[in-house]
This record gives sequence, structure tokens and C-alpha cells, in this order.
Amino acid sequence: MTSLKDLDRCTYLAGDCEAILAVGWLGEDDGFPRGDVSPVFFEKLKALCADPWAPFAAAGSHQCELCQYDGPWFSTNLFVPFNGRIYAAPVGIVHYIAAHRYLPPQVFIDAVLACPPMRSMPYHKALLANGGRVLVRGLSN
Ligand SMILES: [Zn+2]
Repeated sequence: MTSLKDLDRCTYLAGDCEAILAVGWLGEDDGFPRGDVSPVFFEKLKALCADPWAPFAAAGSHQCELCQYDGPWFSTNLFVPFNGRIYAAPVGIVHYIAAHRYLPPQVFIDAVLACPPMRSMPYHKALLANGGRVLVRGLSN
């Protein structure tokens, strides 16, 4: 996995789709922003990452490069629709925040707080309404 700058287009996952922006794609020695997040945000993010909907099979797993030893592995991604965009984060973002004090962009925090429950009909409708048709198209499930 390559690291991506926050709010860059997430070409890694979705090709040339303008609606999908990357959040939390941290690599080794990134100068990423650090800070505190609210417990409400963290709990909501954890809930969304527990069983995230994903449009395609994972392209392989990735180990946290910021841990000195025994970094956790993760292989799925979280898609959060909000205000005409879809924010795509690796589920490792929960670990990045908890263990490495990563501070995601405020718009992502707002998006997570506003996100309908994972796999609910409102969630899927929000994906479609915010530019996620490219993700949903051709899905069999
Ligand atoms: Zn780590």
C-alpha cells in the first residue's frame, strides 16, 4: 500500500473518480497531523469499521508501518459519504488514532459523525447520492 495525502483523490482504490478522497493512508515516517479526537467520534468510527461495506475484495493486507514492533494488519477499507464526496480510509485508521494520535481532517470527523449505520439502506443511498455510483456499479451483493 502506498501512502496518500489526506483529501487527495483516492486513485489507489477507485481509479479516476473525483468524488472519492483519501483519508488516513499513513506510511512510515509520514509527517501526519497529530492531536486529540473526541470519544464520540472515536466510538462512531470504531462502530463503522467493525464490519465495513466494501465494493470489491481487498487488494491485499497492510501492516502498520508506524509501530516499532508487531504492528497490526488490516485489509479492508471504510467508505464514508458526506456532502458530495466519499471519504475512503483503511480500517487501520482506528489504530492510527488510538496508538499514534493521528488527527484526521475535520471534514472526515464531520462525515463520520453524520454517517448512517453501516450496511443500512440510508448508508447505501448516501453512497449513491454522494458520487459513489462508480463503487456500487456492477455489484452483485
Ligand atoms: Zn501502529
